[in-house]
Amino acid sequence: MELAPDSLGPTVCVGEILVEIVATTIGDGFREAQPLVGPYPSGAPAIFIDQCGRIGGAAAMIGAVGDDDFGRVNLDRLMRDGVDVSGIAVDPMMPTGSAFVRYRADGSRDFVYNIATSAAARFGWTAAVASLVARAGHLHVMGSALSMPNAWGVIERAAEVIKARGGSLSLDPNLRKELRYDDATEAQFARLVAMSDLLLPSGEELERAAGVAGEAAAVARLLDMGLTEIVLKRGAEGATCFRRDGRTDAAAFVVNEVDPTGAGDCFGGAYLASRRLGMTVAEALTYGCAAGARNVTVRGPMEGAGTRAELDDFIRTTKRRV
Ligand code: ATP
Ligand code: MG
Repeated sequence: MELAPDSLGPTVCVGEILVEIVATTIGDGFREAQPLVGPYPSGAPAIFIDQCGRIGGAAAMIGAVGDDDFGRVNLDRLMRDGVDVSGIAVDPMMPTGSAFVRYRADGSRDFVYNIATSAAARFGWTAAVASLVARAGHLHVMGSALSMPNAWGVIERAAEVIKARGGSLSLDPNLRKELRYDDATEAQFARLVAMSDLLLPSGEELERAAGVAGEAAAVARLLDMGLTEIVLKRGAEGATCFRRDGRTDAAAFVVNEVDPTGAGDCFGGAYLASRRLGMTVAEALTYGCAAGARNVTVRGPMEGAGTRAELDDFIRTTKRRV
């Protein structure tokens, strides 16, 4: 089906809410004392929903934080950007999830994560979540959330309720190459692909989601499965939307990349909100590309997320690749 309009109710995203703490020097990992900067609000689902709210889409988050300043950093940012936080639990026992990241000279990253044993993984189906989902218009799932054992139950139930009231579903596979999912998680992922109206893959995620090699064959397979829209993110090469009635390409903006983290999440939040607000594919791709590009010019995973006015300004003043 086509994406449900914004007026049906907020886009809800389920998953990990983290702080990110970033090394200010390039090098290998964390085995000596070094300068760090943070905490920045983070977590792929949180970045996505923050950009969705910031551009003016109805937006809400399901997840959990600890009763600590790292949790408050996230709640304050999401509230500032118009995200409904009624579905975020504050865990009295566990600290807010965290990710320490340092870039290497070759652009790859070393991480120290605390997610599975943090508040980030401790959310479930509560009365607050039920009442949020009962008025939601769209569910967005980040594949990274499937690594948390509690996520599947909440996602499956939310999808059922939201679809039953005419809402739609999108999926960003957001698979970490290093992570091999177990068979149950792979099966959940395949079910989510089949249920989705919009898929937002990047790189080899397209072929992995389709289970078919080759871009054209993968797209054809997904459209045959019933997906309405497939938006392939191509980093500094821009993005392409595939629908039954054809493809739309969008050129990337030319920027100086300072911190690539969060580009795909900001792209997705801006694209989905724009579509649900009634914009064409071409318009939504422009906002998506602008949101992704703007976000990489700033250090911190969601520090460059833009309001509609900020993105309009960025679009007016930034060259696009030809
Ligand atoms: P992530 O690394 O956050 O998972 P992703 O792989 O899902 O990202 P990307 O394709 O890297 O997604 O980025 C999403 C969009 O952001 C791109 O389609 C592009 O429009 C924009 N973008 C990302 N990086 C750059 C860049 N260096 N220059 C210009 N635009 C960029
Ligand atoms: Mg991604």
